[in-house]
Amino acid sequence: MNKVDVAILGAGPAGLFAAKCLVGSGLKTVVIDRGSDPGTRTSISFGVGGAGAFSDGKLNLTPKIGGNPADLGRNETEIQCYIDQVDAVFTRFGAPEKYSGADKEGLVDIKRRASRYGIEFISGRQRHMGTTRVRRMVDLFYRYLLDSQISFSLDNQVKRIEVKNKVFILHGGGNENIEAHYLIATPGRAGAYWLREEANRLGIVTEYGPIDVGVRVEFPAEIYTTIEEVMYDAKLRVRTATYDDMVRTFCTNPRGFVVTETYEEFVLVNGHAENEGETQNTNFALLSHIDLTDPVEDTTEYGRAIAKLATTIGGGKPIIQRLKDLKNGRRSTLERLQRATIGPTLVDVTPGDISMALPARIVANILEGLDQLDNIIPGLAADNTLLYAPEIKFYDTRYPVNRSMETRIPGFFVAGDASGHCRGIVYSAVTGLIAGEAIRKRERV
Ligand SMILES: Cc1cc2nc3c(=O)[nH]c(=O)nc-3n(C[C@H](O)[C@H](O)[C@H](O)COP(=O)(O)OP(=O)(O)OC[C@H]3O[C@@H](n4cnc5c(N)ncnc54)[C@H](O)[C@@H]3O)c2cc1C
Repeated sequence: MNKVDVAILGAGPAGLFAAKCLVGSGLKTVVIDRGSDPGTRTSISFGVGGAGAFSDGKLNLTPKIGGNPADLGRNETEIQCYIDQVDAVFTRFGAPEKYSGADKEGLVDIKRRASRYGIEFISGRQRHMGTTRVRRMVDLFYRYLLDSQISFSLDNQVKRIEVKNKVFILHGGGNENIEAHYLIATPGRAGAYWLREEANRLGIVTEYGPIDVGVRVEFPAEIYTTIEEVMYDAKLRVRTATYDDMVRTFCTNPRGFVVTETYEEFVLVNGHAENEGETQNTNFALLSHIDLTDPVEDTTEYGRAIAKLATTIGGGKPIIQRLKDLKNGRRSTLERLQRATIGPTLVDVTPGDISMALPARIVANILEGLDQLDNIIPGLAADNTLLYAPEIKFYDTRYPVNRSMETRIPGFFVAGDASGHCRGIVYSAVTGLIAGEAIRKRERV
């Protein structure tokens, strides 16, 4: 049995920043991850750096994006302080000095144009790292933590969490078990479902939060340039006419790529932009916000059911469809796609019919959202725009936590995407810092 003071489950941004906070505390700390070190990992979701290691690192440096301070029992100023600490680490390990979202006149202009069409524009400072820099940064951060006496137990998937006499015992796959006085669980979206089962078994009653379901939209880069110059990843929100639902843009990748995220039972789409290698296309997620009420509150199962259905219809691959075909109620075929004026950046896909894969309400929201956004991004709702499905953001299991991200089991903390209280690299890192800081305070170190 390997005995430590603190076990951090997950080496994504939340886990790494929790570890960073414990550097110099004298507390014996281990970070466990089912994936490998930055030099050898190949998985998009697992390994040191987490899901963030393969992203292009758009760092949202405002408390308004990625979470809600009130949800964490904090105010915006407090969260901004944590964000500044996170930003300082990223810049120390190689994030560029330059950031977008500083051109006040440009921001006001977009806001003015957006509000004319009932579109909400959320602005804030953003740093864009790019994939190559993110990987280098994760590697430097990992080495720094190793040099600072933080241990790593890699290629070690935790299968079961046990609590005995106020001690956490983590049962891994093959490696010896780890025993810890504190547990910070940060398994990300990919491990959220597993953690929920474990937490429920241990008596932590989790709540259902909303999920976002939709598509990845790909269009010619030129039509987005005026917005991109002001804010790299602009956040735009609309209320749809038919259902009065909220639809939002998320994770914009100017001249980037659409990518596949592979899970055990389904595939999803996502996007990123490389530092080296640009495409002619820009993509963003267009997502419809879903909050279920009694008697079907389990948003995770609902989202998983949609993901599995879409994956079945796509024959194990994401579905691609031209907007024109979706509007005309027919599937896309390879031949129809070849008639489009833009080529897809993700080619291992199945041309098909998104209306067979996503609920009708979501499809209606996507179509209406695109039409509304076309007012400020002219050309977005054109026939040749490409749609990929399914894109689903699971942040839906919410843990009741105190201000320190501690659950109802003393010493059991959750942070990052899996906590249900945040999304994205920066907020995940912030919640990791909050958990690490709370342990230091309790131990007075
Ligand atoms: C392609 C892509 C692009 C993205 N782009 C951006 C972006 O530009 N900006 C942004 O803010 N966000 C982006 N995101 C989202 C961002 O990466 C996540 O929000 C963030 O990484 C969440 O951090 P986390 O620490 O909570 O979890 P993760 O980063 O998901 O890390 C969780 C870690 O836990 C490990 N784990 C899970 N279960 C177990 C287990 N049972 N045992 C051991 N280890 C386990 C996993 O291997 C993983 O390494 C992107 C995501 C993807 C997939």
